[in-house]
Amino acid sequence: MPKVYKRIYLDYAATTPMDAEVEKAIEPFFGVNFGNPSSLYKSGLAAKAELEKARQTIAALIGANRSEIIFTAGGSESVNLAILGVGRAQKNKSHFITTEIEHHCVLNSFKALTREGHKTTFVSVDSNGLIKLDELKKAVKPETVLISVMYANNEIGTIEPIAEIGKWVKKLNQERLQKKLPVILFHTDACQAAGVLDLDVNLLGVDLMTVNGSKIYGPKQSGFLFAKHGIMLEPLVYGGGQESGFRSGTENVAFAIGLAKALSLAQASKTKQREDLLALSKYLIDKIKKYIPDVLLNGYEEFELKNDNNKNTNLIRLPNNINLMFKGVEGEALMLYLDAYGFEVSTASACSTGDPNEPSHVLLAIGRSKQEAQSSIRISLGKYTKLSELKRLVVILPNLISKLRKVTTQ
Ligand SMILES: *Cc1c(COP(=O)(O)O)cnc(C)c1O
Repeated sequence: MPKVYKRIYLDYAATTPMDAEVEKAIEPFFGVNFGNPSSLYKSGLAAKAELEKARQTIAALIGANRSEIIFTAGGSESVNLAILGVGRAQKNKSHFITTEIEHHCVLNSFKALTREGHKTTFVSVDSNGLIKLDELKKAVKPETVLISVMYANNEIGTIEPIAEIGKWVKKLNQERLQKKLPVILFHTDACQAAGVLDLDVNLLGVDLMTVNGSKIYGPKQSGFLFAKHGIMLEPLVYGGGQESGFRSGTENVAFAIGLAKALSLAQASKTKQREDLLALSKYLIDKIKKYIPDVLLNGYEEFELKNDNNKNTNLIRLPNNINLMFKGVEGEALMLYLDAYGFEVSTASACSTGDPNEPSHVLLAIGRSKQEAQSSIRISLGKYTKLSELKRLVVILPNLISKLRKVTTQ
């Protein structure tokens, strides 16, 4: 965390500060190494070489080929390219499936698909936010061409069974080929997962995957789309044919390098991050439950699922995500009071720039009432979070909650 930052930042799921190493890696590409990668003289070739090195680094980290990485300006653009790109490449009106709890960039891309004449299905989730697999399987139609399921939810941290869905899609596609039906592509939005989970596209069984820099201590507006070789995608941006024609415009060499650096750091430290964040989250939840009555965790109660042998554990909830519902408290008011005390947390509704009074679609999807959804806040931790910061929160939160409860009962 930058030294000048005096506030206690607990909203890492919204965005992360840039890692000093990332900053150092990208700095030369604004000034000294400013060449256009398409230019054929020395500075252009040098920029091109660095861009391709970044592409190779990312490809290696996710088990892909260099030619399968398309640099974009962030998670939203990658998601739009995956969904609308597949939609607009279809000769016929087709069918697309996603879940009810996706990020707005997925939900709104799906709405755009319907305006373009395609059909869509939004699969529901259980009370933990886990996709209903039987509903997903029943939703498939002969004309289905894409399934998009997020890797981990940004509001409540639920981790979806991507590898399991990937295996099922592969098997389904073998049957569909024999019936001469279109192959179904599988996309995952991995923006929340890249800092703590494995991103190997072969293990996950995905054809398309979105990752951004803004959630992993990289530059904002940096991102990439993994698109398996041979996938037909209509570009969103036309021009000089950069990024193999999928995304025209002079490449942002600095941000591509920053993203590669950020992803390298994130993937190298993910085991330690998981352990550290889990310990901090468990501390905070424990204290909050101890000192504050009538509080519930939204999403999974536990972070890990114990295996039969009890040796290995599987994460089922992001280790840095704490989404809490304080009965009888206005979430928005709590967030603003915490801000006044120097703590930065989020209400789910702050995730979109829409009506702040609209309750979170994710909390409604897991069965919370409108009022319950509006009594919730998200605290998300990151690699610069210190135990001392959480201790300070534990000191002020119980009083604040009881004050706010008195206000609403009067
Ligand atoms: C942040 C986020 C996005 C959007 O990414 P941007 O880089 O802000 O465009 C998409 N999906 C999820 C799950 C996210 O958390």
